[in-house]
Amino acid sequence: MTGTQQADTGTWPMDFPEGNAVHRVDVAELCARLIRFDTTNYGEGDCKGERVIAEFIARMLTDSGYHPHVLGPCPERASVVLRVRGSDRDLPGLLVHGHLDVVPAEPEQWSIDPFAGTIQDGYIHGRGAADMKDMVAMMLATLLNWAVDGTTPKRDIVFAFVADEEDRGDYGAVWLAEQHRDLFHGVEAAIGEAGGSPKELGAADGSSIRLYPVSTAERGTAHMRLCATATSGHGSYPTEDSALGHLLAALHRINTYKWPLVLSAAVRSFLEEANQALGKTVDLQSDAGVEAAVDALGKAGFMARATIRCSVTPTMVHAGYKVNVIPGLAEAKLDIRSVPGGEVQALAIIDELLGDKVTREFLSPDGPRPPLEAPMDSPWFAAMREVLLRHDPEAVVVPQCLGASTDAKAFAPLGVQCYGFAPHGPDPEGRTFQGVHGIDERIPVAFVRSGQRILDDFLTSV
Ligand SMILES: [Zn+2]
Repeated sequence: MTGTQQADTGTWPMDFPEGNAVHRVDVAELCARLIRFDTTNYGEGDCKGERVIAEFIARMLTDSGYHPHVLGPCPERASVVLRVRGSDRDLPGLLVHGHLDVVPAEPEQWSIDPFAGTIQDGYIHGRGAADMKDMVAMMLATLLNWAVDGTTPKRDIVFAFVADEEDRGDYGAVWLAEQHRDLFHGVEAAIGEAGGSPKELGAADGSSIRLYPVSTAERGTAHMRLCATATSGHGSYPTEDSALGHLLAALHRINTYKWPLVLSAAVRSFLEEANQALGKTVDLQSDAGVEAAVDALGKAGFMARATIRCSVTPTMVHAGYKVNVIPGLAEAKLDIRSVPGGEVQALAIIDELLGDKVTREFLSPDGPRPPLEAPMDSPWFAAMREVLLRHDPEAVVVPQCLGASTDAKAFAPLGVQCYGFAPHGPDPEGRTFQGVHGIDERIPVAFVRSGQRILDDFLTSV
């Protein structure tokens, strides 16, 4: 299977010689090389670099003896999918997915060129270093090393290097899952971003622990347009029946609403197990107890805070065209994130807050993307915990709910149990990754090198 169009295959770098030679690669150098492909996704279908990086990856795989598929819905957008056959084909398959696109970077705000792919001071620097060309490099290096060593995993493993995660996935994971379902035949579980990375936390007794949250759940996503209409008129004769007035009142109600706590099983386990490892007791029966359990986790509580309740954030507002004209139409957009088990209630609350003067519609024609939950007591989760403990005997592995959204939402409808597991090991000097979707994005070299070993171990032992 090939894509609809041929495209530029990209330039081969000095450190990855062209040809049929099968060679081991350094995963850090490979990650830096991938960063040098500018795959900025501006949204609304505007992303130019994915075909080039997809062809680059496919060519490295082909030169190592694999037969990858390069496919996409249009010339610029492409993903690479490769199935590695396992030794026991009766076992259910596993999907490993990583996205090729990145969010925009404003170079003038960075202290280093975001697309230079620089390795310096123990870090790999650049847009995508931690989100998620690190994992893409780890996946690719694992495959190239398997080709050198003649490694065969136990079960079929489908590797998907996908386009368009940083928008809606319509040109990547969503398109693949809808149009090429056959590629994922027999797949029972998937791993992708985000989870399996160490977080150093201070315990009550002054010692510290290394927490490895693995995502077993994700909040749901819905984007909504609000609309208020009324008669337009002269700005010097205000009326109570004002489109903008109705919209602002609704937005104020939404903005000041205190959402009720809804604890999913993953969040409950995260708060209990992480606090227990720190030697702290928790009481999750009361709101105050839950807040205290989140606060006790310090910086690791930042993510948890977003997952204990739904959130509705007004992000865009538009009304009017002239200062002395009362507009007849006012519009706004909301970013809605619902926790597992809370999505129906969230919608009912939003309707109540909007009142009867404001109408709503979902921006996506297929409506909200519901929250996800994968089992925490599965052999998959047990295998992730075991592999992390093999590489770091002090690891405290806990489930977590991701506050944001990933391509897991595209693959879950295929009946796949989706986990956020893009593992890293600790940096000996305490470095950690920074700047995801912000400035000066970077990841410790040690994270990526140890992460590749953990991923390899997981994929061959699971
Ligand atoms: Zn990402």
